[in-house]
Amino acid sequence: MISVIIPSFNEKDNIAEAARAVSAVLSSEEKELIFVDDGSTDGTWNEITAAAVNPEVRGIRFSRNFGKEAAIRAGLESARGDALAVIDCDLQHPPEVLKEMVKKWREGAGVVVGKKSYRGSESRGYGLFAKIFNGVMSKATGFDMSGASDFILLDRRAADAVLQYGEQGSFFRALAQFIGFDAAEVTYNVAARARGEGKWTFKKLFKYAVKNIASFTDIPLYFSLVCGISDLIAALVLLVLCIIGVPLGAFNAAVITLMILAGLILVSLGVAGFYLSRIYDEIKSRPRYHICARTDDERKI
Ligand code: UDP
Ligand code: MG
Repeated sequence: MISVIIPSFNEKDNIAEAARAVSAVLSSEEKELIFVDDGSTDGTWNEITAAAVNPEVRGIRFSRNFGKEAAIRAGLESARGDALAVIDCDLQHPPEVLKEMVKKWREGAGVVVGKKSYRGSESRGYGLFAKIFNGVMSKATGFDMSGASDFILLDRRAADAVLQYGEQGSFFRALAQFIGFDAAEVTYNVAARARGEGKWTFKKLFKYAVKNIASFTDIPLYFSLVCGISDLIAALVLLVLCIIGVPLGAFNAAVITLMILAGLILVSLGVAGFYLSRIYDEIKSRPRYHICARTDDERKI
């Protein structure tokens, strides 16, 4: 059985079409479609319950918006399939590609990653931001993350492996490769959004990028170390120059040195504080989401 997980946040106009398109593409497969309503406020849940008259469609409803990562996880946790695919609800991930993913899975791939070959009509700023983020993520994880997306199919074993990562700040598309199962790729062109609007603001995107980079690398922690060492070397050079009597315009140099030192200390504190906050997040081990309804309950399954 193939489980298709569809995170949905305020997508009321896309649910019926997404259900139809995914069902049509996988018409010859035993399948389930799991819509995860990530706390929508626009009638998305009504659309999901309406779509669930089709017994292949299941719905999970969050009590509020917990974010796409949580929605993906809830879908993976409740999926019953032998292969689990994640696809956006707005049809920007072309459903036809699912067929190719299933084929690669049948040929033995543990993970089939959807890579964007054409990024669609995104803005230049967004494109540049994505490029920098994917570059840093590639370095941090050691995998090529350029063109990576959440359009991914996992074998049951790979999905179980992903679910073993208990961290709060999980990052699905990186974890899917990080687990090390045999990976295959399919490329796709990002389609225009079917209906409705994208949910990302620059602030949300920036937070998302920083958090995910921090969960895969501790390079920023070394920043304070490098600064500290450079600072000591500079201080040593200054000391030597002072001892051999080179005129340094002492007062100005002192002020500048103090300013640099203060700056360095602040930056280091900032980096340490950031990681502390990450540790705090993990230690709290709060639940990632709360489900307040399931279409299965109504069917008394
Ligand atoms: N989404 C979600 N929770 C959120 C934001 C988005 O489940 O808090 C879903 C959304 O409904 C869509 C997918 O994640 O199916 C991608 O969202 P969007 O189209 O806004 O982002 P983009 O296409 O720009 O990556
Ligand atoms: Mg989209």
